[in-house]
Amino acid sequence: MKIGILGLGLIGGCLGFDLRSQGHYVLGVSRRQSTCEKAIHLGSVDQASLDLSLLVSAEVVFICTPIGLIVPQIKELITHLPKTTIITDVGSVKKPIVEAISPLWENFIGGHPMAGKTDVGIEAAQPHLFVNRPYVLTPIETTPSDGVIIVEEIVRSLGSIIYHCQPEQHDRAVAWISHLPVMVSASLIAACLSETDPEITKLAQNFASSGFQDTSRVGGGNPELGVMMAQYNRPALLHSLQQYRHSLDEFIHIIEQEKWEMLEEKFKFNQQSRPHFVE
Ligand code: NAP
Repeated sequence: MKIGILGLGLIGGCLGFDLRSQGHYVLGVSRRQSTCEKAIHLGSVDQASLDLSLLVSAEVVFICTPIGLIVPQIKELITHLPKTTIITDVGSVKKPIVEAISPLWENFIGGHPMAGKTDVGIEAAQPHLFVNRPYVLTPIETTPSDGVIIVEEIVRSLGSIIYHCQPEQHDRAVAWISHLPVMVSASLIAACLSETDPEITKLAQNFASSGFQDTSRVGGGNPELGVMMAQYNRPALLHSLQQYRHSLDEFIHIIEQEKWEMLEEKFKFNQQSRPHFVE
């Protein structure tokens, strides 16, 4: 199959490697000539160009640009494509994208691979990023089932675990497990930097080990992605942040009151609950 990828960054680059290894012919379009050349050189795509018309012969096109560009770029792309082309995206937010594109392009299936890395760009792309990772598809009532089946087949071939839900349900769920953790982790780093004694800051930096590495990773990543998560999933993210603030207040209260048994109960409950999210 001829598959197009628009946006040859981390996710687009990773997709290219895996699709080519499945025997697909991959056409890539990106913003910079240097990225196109790197993508060909690294083996992520067969052909690459700055020109959207390269994608005219693709049967399926994956949109892998930053969230804020997905809608405007699909609007421009569809002026080049036959009506039969299936378009899917990988954006971390689904409701605003699906709502804007579905009336314009029948064969559009919202998608979101739940896999990533801190680094961005084609240089960070690697094969097998999506293996055993959830991949959410958000077709709506009017989405033709033929297109959904084709996208499912491709996603399954990446080794991903497919989930279906409504775009709004997707956005509410990822607010809890993806967007809230980014904001919490970013506030953690900011709080550590608020230490006023430079000697203590230096010591903390020297002592920081695996625990801080785990908890600060997602907050210390791509700033552009963090801003777009907040911009495009604002209501769901604000709801989860407010709930998190309530949870923090509870912890503060318990510690101030020295209610150690209650604190232990909370930790026990969390220890039992965590495996429901992370195996
Ligand atoms: P990325 O590494 O920064 O890649 C985005 C790529 O888009 C850039 O390499 C850039 O290519 C290209 N681009 C930017 N403007 C463009 C334009 N006007 N025309 C064509 N290409 C353009 O970011 P990413 O992490 O892959 O994220 C891409 C998408 O994946 C986002 O929508 C994000 O929500 C989603 N996503 C990300 C993750 C994650 O953890 N990173 C996980 C799941 C989904 P040039 O190099 O040519 O400038």
